[in-house]
Amino acid sequence: MPLLHLFSVLLDFRNLIQVLHLALGSGVASRLPCFLCMEQPVLKAVIVGAGPAGLTAAYQLSKQHARVAVLESDPQYVGGISRTVNYKGFHFDIGGHRFFSKSHEVEDLWTEIAGDDLLNRPRSSRVYYRGQFFTYPLKPFEALSKLGLIESFRCVLSFLAARLHPTCHPKTFEDWVVNQFGKRLFRIFFKTYTEKVWGMSCQEISADWAAQRIKGLSLASAMKHALLSERKPRDRKQVVKTLIDTFRYPRRGPGMMWEACAEKIRKLGSAVLLGRRVVGCRFDSKNKLWTVTSRNAAGHLEEFHAEHLISSMPIRELVPQIEPHLPEVAIHAARSLRYRDFLTVGLIVRDRDRVSDNWIYIHDSSVQVGRVQNYKSWSPEMVPDPAYCCYGLEYFCFEGDGMWAAPDRQLIELAKKEIHQVNLASSADVVDGCVIRQPKAYPVYDDAYQQHVETIRKALAEKFPTLHLVGRNGMHKYNNQDHAMMTAMLTAKNILADERQYDVWAVNQDAEYHEAGTAGEESTGAMSGIPVADATSVAQSCSEGVA
Ligand SMILES: Cc1cc2nc3c(=O)[nH]c(=O)nc-3n(C[C@H](O)[C@H](O)[C@H](O)COP(=O)(O)OP(=O)(O)OC[C@H]3O[C@@H](n4cnc5c(N)ncnc54)[C@H](O)[C@@H]3O)c2cc1C
Repeated sequence: MPLLHLFSVLLDFRNLIQVLHLALGSGVASRLPCFLCMEQPVLKAVIVGAGPAGLTAAYQLSKQHARVAVLESDPQYVGGISRTVNYKGFHFDIGGHRFFSKSHEVEDLWTEIAGDDLLNRPRSSRVYYRGQFFTYPLKPFEALSKLGLIESFRCVLSFLAARLHPTCHPKTFEDWVVNQFGKRLFRIFFKTYTEKVWGMSCQEISADWAAQRIKGLSLASAMKHALLSERKPRDRKQVVKTLIDTFRYPRRGPGMMWEACAEKIRKLGSAVLLGRRVVGCRFDSKNKLWTVTSRNAAGHLEEFHAEHLISSMPIRELVPQIEPHLPEVAIHAARSLRYRDFLTVGLIVRDRDRVSDNWIYIHDSSVQVGRVQNYKSWSPEMVPDPAYCCYGLEYFCFEGDGMWAAPDRQLIELAKKEIHQVNLASSADVVDGCVIRQPKAYPVYDDAYQQHVETIRKALAEKFPTLHLVGRNGMHKYNNQDHAMMTAMLTAKNILADERQYDVWAVNQDAEYHEAGTAGEESTGAMSGIPVADATSVAQSCSEGVA
């Protein structure tokens, strides 16, 4: 009996060390007696990236008692692009994240994770054009009256011309939008902002992007909405909360959701490890195990072993790390994938009650800023002192270009000047500022991206069935949080079932940009309706701004 007891104590101690292994990396355990350390535990999955996709996968697996480790390169924050940056108690959301999904599962998961911390917020956004503010989504009558009689007449004529002589099979963003709205409205409300976002001509941007992001918007539907929204609903209960009106938002920004999620994962016995950049992914086909190597903040390498590898890191970075190496054609395809980066200049400003919008698109080529976020309108708790508001001026750029590499001080000065120029605040009211850089904010949809992704997918599927790509850059897909999460939820189901029951590539396949719709209106069918054999039934949602 005492012997048995001693053995069980030793086993408990070994388990403790294995947990330490997970929490602190192999360095700690390697200094302990060898017989106690034994081997690193084999995890169900190693997950690269603690953004919405990685954390969702980890949470879903951990709830089913599968032990996983999430490796995140950021030393401070979880949430990825959906993190909240804290600067002197002011909170900055990278891009402004509306929590809205047509999928029940996603809405329910957000409630489960953040519950009481989720606010219902009114949505208000406008377009700044030639010194005037236009409600967005556009209200046709307001837009036409602000544009003036002559310009309005020209817009209507060019709209009619586009309808009479549309470009058949539009291939570019410009052709697609002109078909939909006419050339004049395209120039006024789409061209400048879109070219700022992508850093390329609208003739070079694939129509895919327009189709995905603005399919739900047409002049006709905008007219219908403008007319119908004037009418009072007969039954108050029938008032449908559309994206136009409200969205959910955590009290202190999107990062709050993902910090709560990471906490839950840890409580379930899995690990979320920050400051770990994954630098190698090796598959041992004999034992069917992955060995994932990460570099920690001190520069030390650590290894993790798992049955499955789930990756939300950019495909371009993952592919060359995989061993045994993929064929050169796949490596070349990965190298060819492109991204658009952006930076936010956060300004802390004395609040003069000038703006109540959540965000404003800047359609003005005389300034470089593309969009301005007003975080206090997203949630009052984004500022620690109600006498101030905080703005995020978004500048789209390429990693390493002049804008990206400019010193913070210079960028803050630029933002101070431009916020004044677009009449949202006086430079004299700006009291402080910071710069937040976001590499790979947007996977670029150019002519060749689909072909490249296809080549990579094929190569991976043939050789590595236990490697799962999820999320936005993880799949090089324009996924919002909900779609990123859905790919992770389906991946967790596939892993637990030990077979690919669901095709994660079908998520968001023909999703539209919705400026209307009801949160959670799609039932479980949306999630379960994506079996491998039928990749066409997909959930659709909406989110970030487009114009
Ligand atoms: C401007 C803008 C506005 C947006 N607005 C909305 C919105 O209103 N609503 C909405 O739902 N969505 C919105 N989105 C989309 C949302 O940000 C993404 O869908 C979501 O963050 C994607 O989650 P992810 O986990 O796939 O990727 P990410 O958020 O990119 O997370 C990936 C993580 O992997 C980590 N990583 C990368 N490489 C490595 C490595 N080698 N080792 C370890 N870790 C690594 C990164 O640091 C990151 O934390 C917006 C995006 C942008 C750019």
